[in-house]
Parts: sequence; structure tokens; C-alpha cells
Amino acid sequence: MICKKCTNEIPELNFSEEQLLETRGLVAHGLKLFLVRKLLEQGVSHSDSKLIADHLNPKIGHCNQCDFDELKGENAECPECGAFNYNLKELPFNEAFCSRLEWSLDFDNLGVEEVKGFWCDGISAFPPDMKSLSKAAIQQNRQIITEARIGKGGQDKYELTIQLGPKALDYYERDLDLTACIPDSDHRYWISIDVEEQEVMVKLD
Ligand SMILES: [Zn+2]
Ligand SMILES: [Zn+2]
Repeated sequence: MICKKCTNEIPELNFSEEQLLETRGLVAHGLKLFLVRKLLEQGVSHSDSKLIADHLNPKIGHCNQCDFDELKGENAECPECGAFNYNLKELPFNEAFCSRLEWSLDFDNLGVEEVKGFWCDGISAFPPDMKSLSKAAIQQNRQIITEARIGKGGQDKYELTIQLGPKALDYYERDLDLTACIPDSDHRYWISIDVEEQEVMVKLD
């Protein structure tokens, strides 16, 4: 694979699932230098480490080098500027799911007086422990622990635990987006909140 923009030969990503997840987390958080260091530690050459970090696009579909935002499939060449983008496929737990879940969290109807007027202003699709998103970890733990901003101003930091029910586990295993697993039943059955501990728990179908 040659990048037409920088004319370099781009290395293939021969990573384990866990390495790839950690890599995605670092790229999403803009920690490029940290990623290069990590790759060097794993024995990847210096030039390859830099090429990998430079060609992983943080936003899937969006070119690393220009404004084009309709890249299709993995290992995509940008039709606008010719840049190579790894353009890794979306995970079942992704930003679209997180923003949908954010909109579905209704704290007014939980029957808890102190959370009336609460709303959620963001759920991180990149949990502190990215390895917890591997398929083996999901099947074992059946949950994803990430961060959310919640409160009357929507800005307090909460730990959000997302439990995966049978449908969500099946979807995750099959690489399908989890959005369809957000329950539409009474919120009291699938959302609980502990304001003192700043913890929220949701149960997917
Ligand atoms: Zn390039
Ligand atoms: Zn481009």
C-alpha cells in the first residue's frame, strides 16, 4: 500500500485485537506521540511507528489530511488528496451509539426527586480501559465501563456502567452496532443512578 500524498509505503497493521483497541483509544484522544512510543516499545521500527500514527484517521470516514469525510471501507485512499487512511471499521460500541444513548437517558421519570432536571452531555466511546472492549472481555464481563457527563448542567463526571443483555452480547459478537439494543421500555427498568457515588448504570436488551 502506497500513500499517494506522502509517497511512502504504508505498513500493514499486524496487531492483536487488544493492541488495536489501545491504538484506537490513543489516536482518538490525539495522543500520537504516546502511540509512537508505545509502538517502538513493541518492537515496531521508528519509521513504521511514525507512518502508522500519521495514517490512522481519528474519525472513521474522515480523511486525516483534508476535509473529505466519506471514506469507505478499511485501507481507503482519499479521492480528494490521495492520502492513505487506515479507516478502521467502527466498533459495535462507538460514537453514534454513545450519542444515541445520551439522548435516551431520561432522569425525570425515574421516580427519584433529586435527579429531576438532570441530563447527559456526553458519553465517551473510548473507555479508560480500551482492552475491556475486546470480544473476549465483553463476553466474560458483560459490561462496558466508561465516563459520562451528567447533572443539572449536564457537566458532572459520572462513571457509566453499561450492562449488555443477551441481545447486546449477540450483536457485539457479530460486530453489529449496539444502538438497536437500547431499551424502549420504562426508564426505571434499565437506568439507575447514584448521585453520591456519581455512578450510573444502564442495562441494554
Ligand atoms: Zn501519507
Ligand atoms: Zn484527503
